[in-house]
Amino acid sequence: MTQKISVSNLCDIAPLSAADITTILDRAAFFKTALSTKTVPQTLKDKVILTLFTENSTRTRNSFEMAVLRLGGKLMNWDEKISSAQKGETFSDTLRYLNGYQPDAVVMRHHEYNAPNYVAGIVDCPVINAGDSYREHPTQALLDAFTIKEAKGKIDGLTIAIVGDLAHSRVAGSDVPLLTKMGATIHLIAPENLQPRSVPEGVKIFSTLEDGLVGCDVIITLRIQKERMDASVIPNDTAYFHAYGLTLERLALAKPDVIVMHPGPMNRGVEIADEVADDPTHSVIFQQGANGVPVRMAVLDLLVGEST
Ligand code: ASP
Repeated sequence: MTQKISVSNLCDIAPLSAADITTILDRAAFFKTALSTKTVPQTLKDKVILTLFTENSTRTRNSFEMAVLRLGGKLMNWDEKISSAQKGETFSDTLRYLNGYQPDAVVMRHHEYNAPNYVAGIVDCPVINAGDSYREHPTQALLDAFTIKEAKGKIDGLTIAIVGDLAHSRVAGSDVPLLTKMGATIHLIAPENLQPRSVPEGVKIFSTLEDGLVGCDVIITLRIQKERMDASVIPNDTAYFHAYGLTLERLALAKPDVIVMHPGPMNRGVEIADEVADDPTHSVIFQQGANGVPVRMAVLDLLVGEST
């Protein structure tokens, strides 16, 4: 029987204990094996999962959909662009109607800060945050942790650099609390105008790769979130690449067995060089993407699944 976790929604990392995170990562490892041996227990059979996305998505949305289908569940989608939101219906009224159809969970991405906690206050089923504004993206952090554990055998004691647009990154918003909770040391590297306003105690901030990458076991590179900033913040892509792009030369500053990650979508030639993104020894970027399926299966299973 599945050991459950202590929360009934996944909107943020803070309410998860280290034991909850370990339970999710272990369950994800179980599903990764079950996917490869085609022995996935159908713990979402007869469950209908409502997806509600108001921002673009490729990896998160499709891996959630694949996770639901692999577990034997069904999907219902609310699409803002063709919904009655266009006729002036409030989001709260929309939610009350959708809740009346009794979905078994809501998986949502929303452009407004903290929208998942608002939705969780209205609907009667678990809410899973698939990314809200620049605040949090908890399942991305879980799949990042899973990928690190898979490659390094542990998280505790590692030094992990997160490089790039930290001011606007919901990935960093969830990675930092999760990875510190699991015992990693975090180096945040960004130009001054893209550094976060506050960081948890013990997290170190650097403004150059040359200082921040030394001694790192893992490098997580982030996309410049142009949709969330004024054009003046980053004058041009070439200048950014020159100062902060991850090149093979800069990779050599970290430990020899460093791994490179990126949540996607990658802007090649802006935050990461092609040779690094495609480096067979160090880059785990595409494995990281594939791990979205077993990790999201684990979250769905633990919050909604029938015990097997
Ligand atoms: N895919 C991630 C997100 O939705 C990262 C990114 O967009 O840069 O937050």
